[in-house]
Amino acid sequence: MTDCIFCKIIKGEIPKKFVYKDNDLVAFYDINPKAPVHVLIVPRKHIESLREIKEEDKDLMGKLMLVVKQIAEKLGIAKEGYKVVINNGRVSGQLVFHLHLHLLGGWKDKADWNV
Ligand code: AMP
Ligand code: ZN
Repeated sequence: MTDCIFCKIIKGEIPKKFVYKDNDLVAFYDINPKAPVHVLIVPRKHIESLREIKEEDKDLMGKLMLVVKQIAEKLGIAKEGYKVVINNGRVSGQLVFHLHLHLLGGWKDKADWNV
């Protein structure tokens, strides 16, 4: 999609340092972090939200979960704990209509999170 900001990032039209990338997914730091560590994990395929996923996206969605785990370990936030959020639709707070998963963590204590 030409006017989608995440498609532009994926295509390299907007410079971005990737935390992770493979043939299916990319991950980069959120520009407006809501936790000490806030990474977005984004399928390269332009899917608007979970409402639009299809049977053919089953492997991609499964991989997304495995990659979250991998990135959380790599960034050193897995042992203490982290959150995974996918906003779907305007009233949920979705701003970018290209499916993405928020990985949030890096808090020191359970009282610290506020998302
Ligand atoms: P959502 O509200 O679930 O659609 O999340 C969209 C997220 O994308 C927000 O947390 C934004 O801060 C983030 N965001 C928007 N533009 C960029 C960008 N250019 N680079 C990194 N993160 C971005
Ligand atoms: Zn897109």
